[in-house]
Amino acid sequence: MPEVYLNGEFLPLEEARVSVMDRGFLFGDGVYEVIPAYGGRPFRLAQHLDRLDYSLAAIRMDNPLPREEWRWILERLTGAAPGVDRMIYLQVTRGADAKRHHLFPLSAEPTRFVMAWDAKPRDPAIEAQGIAAVTLEDFRWLRCDIKSIALLGNVLLRQAAEDAGAEESILIRDGCATEGSSTNLFLVRAGELATPPKGHLLLPGITRDLVLELAREAGIPCREREVRAEELAAADEIWISSSSREVEPVTRLDGEPVGDGVPGPQWRRMDALFQDYKGRLRAGHA
Ligand code: PMP
Repeated sequence: MPEVYLNGEFLPLEEARVSVMDRGFLFGDGVYEVIPAYGGRPFRLAQHLDRLDYSLAAIRMDNPLPREEWRWILERLTGAAPGVDRMIYLQVTRGADAKRHHLFPLSAEPTRFVMAWDAKPRDPAIEAQGIAAVTLEDFRWLRCDIKSIALLGNVLLRQAAEDAGAEESILIRDGCATEGSSTNLFLVRAGELATPPKGHLLLPGITRDLVLELAREAGIPCREREVRAEELAAADEIWISSSSREVEPVTRLDGEPVGDGVPGPQWRRMDALFQDYKGRLRAGHA
């Protein structure tokens, strides 16, 4: 049984218990992070912990632990296996109250939970064929910038993609693409990379920021701008990005090929830059 961290203790997953009065369970009242650790080295840890602070502040909570303690917990759950890539899941909720009511409890201890698992190597089919996506109306709330554990909208939209035989949904709000159900969105058209701007309508992905950074370093023209839904059909390439999926090429959208219908040259270039960055991180140079 893998070891997890819960409220100050390390224990086997099957022994970890939280109260049914936990506001995470009753209201989805909490936030989370997913952080890859390549060869025992957390990926962009400062940025992930900054985003955790941002999400906590947005739901009016203080960070229950200092940074050094988060670092230490993450190290304990990943550092034992320096040759292995791991994924870390970290969650903070507003804790358990005696009574179920909407108002913030006056004195509840926030629940802190961390678990980790070995990262799966990428399915070779993704590199060979890319993935299929479908466009769906973005019916989520208007604070998609908060990494909330209340993911019902995202769950329904991801399942709808699966039911349509696709691996991701690309969400459309007021005629513009926002992001995927659990990924950010990129589009390549005439050699220029575009991604929707940060704001309340999408999660500020840590992978998204790295893709933009790598593109800028490599001299690839890129812009953060509104992406109209109709631009998707005319795109040369579409990519999605996240901590667990890295950067994946979307080669079929709503049943039609994207560009040539195969992973494009710009994606291959970005993927090479991304894999190189991971290699540098594993070697302690990033
Ligand atoms: N958008 C949504 C809705 C997400 O849930 C995620 C993360 N799973 C992302 C974007 C990508 O964020 P990151 O690159 O930080 O994993």
